[in-house]
This record gives sequence, C-alpha cells and structure tokens, in this order.
Amino acid sequence: MSDNIIVTILGSSSAPPQIDRRQSSISIKYRNNNLLFDVGEATQVQMIKNKIKFKNLVIFFTHLHSDHTQGLIGILSTRNFYDMKTPITIIGPPWTSSFVFLQLLAYRLYPEYEINVIETEGGTVLLNNDLHIESFQLNHSDHSLGYKLSTHQPLGIFNVEKAKEKKIPRGELWKLLQDGKPIEFNDNTIYPSDVLEESDLKKTSLVITGDTMIDQNVINSSSSVDLLIHDGTYPPSESKRAKKHKHSTCLDAAYVAKFANAKRLILTHISNLHRDIENSIEEAKKIFPNCEFAYDNMRIILKTKD
Ligand SMILES: [Zn+2]
Ligand SMILES: [Zn+2]
Repeated sequence: MSDNIIVTILGSSSAPPQIDRRQSSISIKYRNNNLLFDVGEATQVQMIKNKIKFKNLVIFFTHLHSDHTQGLIGILSTRNFYDMKTPITIIGPPWTSSFVFLQLLAYRLYPEYEINVIETEGGTVLLNNDLHIESFQLNHSDHSLGYKLSTHQPLGIFNVEKAKEKKIPRGELWKLLQDGKPIEFNDNTIYPSDVLEESDLKKTSLVITGDTMIDQNVINSSSSVDLLIHDGTYPPSESKRAKKHKHSTCLDAAYVAKFANAKRLILTHISNLHRDIENSIEEAKKIFPNCEFAYDNMRIILKTKD
C-alpha cells in the first residue's frame, strides 16, 4: 500500500464546462481511503478515465450548486447498475440529506446499498486510522464549506525485543501498546514510545476550498498546509465580478496561500474569462511563487515520507 496521497483533478472548470475542462471534482486516494470532493457533471466518466473505483467511496460536497453536484445521480446509478452492495457516505452542508433523497425520488432510483449522509457546519467529519478531515465555513453565495485533510503521525513498528525485555506478556497488553495506548503493568506505566520505533512518516495536510471569496477563515484553516487547492475562478482584471459573485481571482487565492504560509497552491474552478492564462499565473506568482493552474486529469503526489 502506498504511503503517498494521490490527488487527481477530475474537473477544473467553473459552472459552464469548457472543451478541455469539466465541472468541479477532485479525487483523493490515501491508503484505503477513496474520496471525492464535489462531483460536477461528467465526474463518472473522469473516474473511469483515471481508474478511480466506485467502491468504498466517500463523497464530500463543498456546497450544493449544480456545477459541484450534477454528477451524483450518475455515480449512484452506475453503482446500482453494477450491483454494488458496499455502502456510500455523502458529507455536505445542511440540506444535503434532502438533496440526495429528492434526487433518488425524482429518478426513481432505489439502490440496494446503504447511503449514509452526514451534514456538517464545521468540525470533524471523518476520523480513521489514516486521516482526520474537518470542514470549515467559506464565504460564497451558497452555504459553502472547505475541507482540511491531515494524516496522523503514524505509529512506528512494534519492537518485540523491547517488549520482552520489559517482560510484558504477549496478547492484549501488546495490542494496546501497538494501538498507541499506555498500559499499567507491574505497578509501572508503560508508554507506546517505550516499545515502538520512531515512524519515518511525516504529518501531511491539505485544504480544498469550495467556491469562496478571499476569507480570513480559509487563511486560518490553511495555516502551513502542504497543499492548498483554492477557488481561482477569475483573472486579475475581474476583481469586481469576483466580489459580486463571491468567488476569488487568482490573485486573491495567491494572497490566501501567502498569508497562510502554505507550501504549494493549485488554482481551480477556472472561468473561461482567463483568456490569457500565462499572464494570470505570472501575476499570481508575484504574490505566491509556488502556484499553478489546475487542469483536468492533473495528478499531484504528496509524499508522506522524505
Ligand atoms: Zn462553482
Ligand atoms: Zn458555487
């Protein structure tokens, strides 16, 4: 199993799709986690193209605007068509439950698999052995959320010799230490660090915003992240339009990355008003040099090992 986080941009366009850009969707694969952030139109075709499985999916909606959600019914139908029985989890802002239910009703789709819907207005939405994912509020014309993903500092390898030296009996006590929990043994507290080697994996984090204008909440939530994927809908010349529609220019996004001290910035949700994309990126790089525009099928590998 790879220790890399694999980010694939499935769609990098704003609402009207373009010849070479589909609507918003981002896939993240990390160990057994198969995550999709937004599912604009054409997402399932892009999934097939990029070999992303329909099984064990968790779908995160940043918000419910149609350019971020139109692909949902297609994915749910295809899972039904292939008779998949594994559950699917859908996480999004308030109204997500009704949104999913009404779509199933309208299309008269009765899946045989379970659909778990979690509505969030901020805070932890997923926590497992590999990842911690939190949502936070954005500033957009609809209830829009950003998501921050962090890997845990994984536990190191259990050192059997050290456990034997301390005469800890094999079994339940070993298991507790392997799970990172301290134990009481012979009137002593034994900590996991006493018997676990140091891990060579480092904590890695990334933030995906939904549609948003420049916002302090994004800066706070993106502090020192390894990767920030931010709304970069408009070119620098369209700052008035960006404010009106509560989106960002590529320069707004560059300022967010700079003030958050992020390590890398990817601009997405690109409007066709970016007619001179070379000029847009040059301007953004003056503010935050390590930035680039997303493109469909772009793959970014985040290493959790040096
Ligand atoms: Zn949008
Ligand atoms: Zn929107």
